[in-house]
Amino acid sequence: MGAPEPILTSGAIAMTQTHLVFLGPPGAGKGTHAKFLANEHGLLHLSTGDMLRMAIQEAADYPEVAGAAAEGAVPAHVAIGMQARAFMDAGNLVPDDLIIEMIFHRLASATDERGWILDGFPRTVPQAQALDSRLEHEGGRLDHVLLFEVPETELIARLGSRATCASCGAIYNTRIRPPTHEGVCDVCGGVVRQRRDDRPDAVRKRLQVYHELTAPLVEYYEAGGRLRRVDANRTIQRIRVEIETLLGLQS
Ligand code: AMP
Repeated sequence: MGAPEPILTSGAIAMTQTHLVFLGPPGAGKGTHAKFLANEHGLLHLSTGDMLRMAIQEAADYPEVAGAAAEGAVPAHVAIGMQARAFMDAGNLVPDDLIIEMIFHRLASATDERGWILDGFPRTVPQAQALDSRLEHEGGRLDHVLLFEVPETELIARLGSRATCASCGAIYNTRIRPPTHEGVCDVCGGVVRQRRDDRPDAVRKRLQVYHELTAPLVEYYEAGGRLRRVDANRTIQRIRVEIETLLGLQS
């Protein structure tokens, strides 16, 4: 069997693995577009938010040993869930060391994939530096960092009407893109509801955290020439086409 088909052409260089980061404030559409792109092009979609919500769900099955996490009495991802919940509910970031451990553990088993999209990671400069070090160590690199830009008023409106499947993470908008049957996921039949951190108080906090801790990554990646800006205040279809063109991905 020959070498795998390259799926991305960036300038003159064709690569067999595609490594993308989706960057932007909460509600900018990173998850929606990452899910589509990953499905369409056989990439692995890694959302740290989804991973944390799953870990929190699993941690809920360990109520009798809550508190035992620090003693190593529960699986690592469950321990992460136990520690992450309070940070997330308040709209704060989960500490860097926990997140880096979680995502690197997952990346270690992603070597056979055609590549990956990181959605919601990195979110701080130390996280970005850790990712660069890891890639450098492995002889890999980030192909592109896509920055999803949306005016803040629009973000607040979107998050206020966003609903998410608690089982598979599918994203809906109760105003313009509701599930066919209210509260039921079209994809997996799971329960669709508002995320706890999409409530107004947490949204305000998350936007503030974005400006303080995540926005500096724009400069970080711009300096390395890796940043591509996407006007994400348009229809999903138009944004989709632009992203595919920008990345040189063929449908
Ligand atoms: P998201 O689903 O990407 O909006 O993430 C939801 C929440 O998960 C965030 O508000 C953070 O509390 C936490 N989270 C997700 N990714 C990260 C990250 N890279 N670093 C720290 N916290 C994160």
